[in-house]
Amino acid sequence: MKESSFLANIYNNICRDTGNQNESARLIAVVRFLTLSLIMHSLVNCVLVSFTAHIGAMVLSVLSLILFLAIFVFSYNCSTFMSYCAMNVSVLFWTILNVYYFGWNIGIQHFLVVLVVFVFFCKYKHEKAKITYVILLFLLRLLLYFYCQPHSPVIALDIRVANAMQTVNSFFIFWCLALIAYLFSSSTQEMEGKLIEYNRKLMKQANTDTLTGLYNRRRTIEYLEKLLADSSEQISICLCDIDFFKRVNDTYGHDVGDEVLKTVADNFRKNLPPDTFISRWGGEEFLLIFPRMNGDEAGTALENFRQKLKTVSFDGGAESFSITLTFGLVEYDFHSDITTVLKEADEKLYLGKESGRDRIVF
Ligand code: GH3
Ligand code: MG
Ligand code: MG
Repeated sequence: MKESSFLANIYNNICRDTGNQNESARLIAVVRFLTLSLIMHSLVNCVLVSFTAHIGAMVLSVLSLILFLAIFVFSYNCSTFMSYCAMNVSVLFWTILNVYYFGWNIGIQHFLVVLVVFVFFCKYKHEKAKITYVILLFLLRLLLYFYCQPHSPVIALDIRVANAMQTVNSFFIFWCLALIAYLFSSSTQEMEGKLIEYNRKLMKQANTDTLTGLYNRRRTIEYLEKLLADSSEQISICLCDIDFFKRVNDTYGHDVGDEVLKTVADNFRKNLPPDTFISRWGGEEFLLIFPRMNGDEAGTALENFRQKLKTVSFDGGAESFSITLTFGLVEYDFHSDITTVLKEADEKLYLGKESGRDRIVF
């Protein structure tokens, strides 16, 4: 447990953001992880060149170690961009020096490819500068190759040491490439995940009535238009309205009125068939859509709901009360447009109100 929090502490410190909030936190973490990798690389190299007992090789390896340690410390004290540039320039010159001193065979020139990947994964938008830099890296690699053809390395390595260095370089080049790809791709995936979740929330907000959690009028029209256009099966539509709701507000207060609306919504969800589309059409009016149901079937479901609602008691403070709804139900005739269907449902609702409320008019 302690060990894992110790490691988490180290990880958090490596990922620690710079003071400038406008900069990418992920980039500075990549710079630090790469620098740490190069510190490790330099340490291994120090051990390897100690077998050669070549003072120049020792000096070069120790200087590399100091250089990358300095960049690591530097990354905590200056901007991400400066650290990023320092890292690029250092790796560039360090590669040239290594090729010059140890020759082509130790494979260190492939670190130039690491720089290509690094420069393109980072989020700075200097596309032209990036392309120019990559072309220069390519030319530099060719130049180094052709330079090495006629020239022997300054430090002639024993074949076993050269092989060991080639192995170490290959390992660290693959490691650095994987590290860059992993750290940047995980940040992209994280970002995508957040965006998807954010979009989902936005969609929900745009489609939902905040008080009741039912679909709102906008989403209902969208749904109904699609349903009527696509459907080859029967559809029933019902507009319903709470009876004497103004009286509820006037007698018990607006907050109790809100509670009534929420409870009615919950009862719709609990007591209507599962695929009923339930929406708050406005105020104390609801639009219910019954896909794949004819008027008689929808009427039965509504009657069941109407009876259930009568048994629900609402808390009005000093007393409790119950409410009723009036329903205007229409069976879709397969050719009317949405306005006509809704008008018909509204007329039936009006008829229900006129003829005494608390009823289903079909
Ligand atoms: P009827 O039986 O004819 O439908 O009578 P009613 O009193 O229900 O109808 P009326 O249109 O006179 O009043 C509707 C009331 O609904 C008035 C309005 O203040 C109230 N209302 C609309 N939206 C809300 C809301 O979100 N919360 C609360 N508490 N009241 C609301
Ligand atoms: Mg009403
Ligand atoms: Mg009304």
